[in-house]
Amino acid sequence: MTPVPQATRRHRVVVIGGGNGGLSVAGRLARRGVTDIAVVEPRSEHVYKPLLSHVAGGTARLHETTRPQGEVTPRGVTWIQDAASDIDPEHSTVTLTGGDVVGFDHLIVSAGVQHDWKDVPGLYAALTTPEVVSNYEPELAQKASVALRDLRRGTAVFVQPPEPASCAGAGQKPMYQACDYWRATGVLDNIRVILVLPTPTMFGIPEIDTELERVVSRYGIEVRYSTELAVVDGEARRVTLQSHGAREDVEYDVLCVEPSQSAPDWLKATPLSADSDPGGFVAVDAGTLRHPRWPNVWSLGDAADTTNSKSGGALREQSYVLAKNLAAVIAGRRPTARYDGYSVCPFTVSRSTVVFVEFDDRGALQPTIPFWRSMYRENRLSWIFDRRILPWLYWHAILPGRL
Ligand SMILES: Cc1cc2nc3c(=O)[nH]c(=O)nc-3n(C[C@H](O)[C@H](O)[C@H](O)COP(=O)(O)OP(=O)(O)OC[C@H]3O[C@@H](n4cnc5c(N)ncnc54)[C@H](O)[C@@H]3O)c2cc1C
Repeated sequence: MTPVPQATRRHRVVVIGGGNGGLSVAGRLARRGVTDIAVVEPRSEHVYKPLLSHVAGGTARLHETTRPQGEVTPRGVTWIQDAASDIDPEHSTVTLTGGDVVGFDHLIVSAGVQHDWKDVPGLYAALTTPEVVSNYEPELAQKASVALRDLRRGTAVFVQPPEPASCAGAGQKPMYQACDYWRATGVLDNIRVILVLPTPTMFGIPEIDTELERVVSRYGIEVRYSTELAVVDGEARRVTLQSHGAREDVEYDVLCVEPSQSAPDWLKATPLSADSDPGGFVAVDAGTLRHPRWPNVWSLGDAADTTNSKSGGALREQSYVLAKNLAAVIAGRRPTARYDGYSVCPFTVSRSTVVFVEFDDRGALQPTIPFWRSMYRENRLSWIFDRRILPWLYWHAILPGRL
């Protein structure tokens, strides 16, 4: 018989992951008067990920994306600097890699996704070469900004993987910004730009497809629809692309890859994973965000098996719903708030404009500002919101749980 781990400490609410979802839900709960909340987060630096696309595309600096974790942890919330390695929902404990076992009354899992760089043969090894970059990790985004800026001729290949992915379309953003820069500096005609997309259309909503197709043709980008990255040969600087069994070899001068993604391996191994979900994400009721089997377990953000497209925008609603429901349950009431599947993908399509897409889990446009129904069209105001206003709101209102 496996011994039951004994809790070495205990909190009313334990949150796994001090990223976008974990901190904002902890902040919202604290604002609702819930006490004794602890966030388990191993990293010392918190990263605002949407800005990494701007770093790669040359319109933000790396230092703008990070803040010390201690500074952004909401007031009144305890930060445990360690990583969870297992969850025992039967005995309401979390085991940490440092050896502690933390007991909880309620658990919120917001541990994000892992980047499966090794899914594509040759890709992980090729990351050490100067030509292979990404906007999905800080150091690779920094490398991307240099590689894209310095390219004067040749071939640049951009890859978006199949879902599940955190803000799947973000892989396209550095490409549009780089094309805008190459056009302004007069070298775009010397550069062959290829976008590898897993889907049969640019986005999957007709209005957005038309908008992005216009942008793609403006820059002369070749789109390979329904295509995936099959192999990377970093030494030969060559990729093999695969579409419905047909393979194509392409030599590159820059390869910018959004990695495949899934739930962190340790989380997949816990009983919380949805049986039906190959990505290993945490099973939840898509409306209440509560686990269907263990009512004191909740999940939100990229780690949750929800029906929406994963994004920080989705989290603004999810953290509100989860905090309201959990505070109600703690107060002895029923959880009545429901998340409606809202999500966001702001495509930066140049160094000064954005196609701001707000949509739901049925693929319908869902604009926040109802009288501005054409907000998704490429415009400058959305750029100012995405590049200037949102980062400020993130640090000052979203993470502390005010918004
Ligand atoms: C390049 C990029 C661009 C993006 N652009 C946009 C955008 O423009 N708009 C938008 O709305 N969204 C965007 N997103 C998506 C958005 O950033 C995510 O949806 C959001 O960060 C998810 O929040 P989360 O809390 O679920 O995960 P995260 O923010 O990833 O946080 C997870 C946290 O869990 C921690 N963790 C991991 N393992 C453990 C463990 N074992 N124990 C404890 N803690 C652990 C991690 O260290 C991390 O801090 C983008 C994402 C990326 C990568």
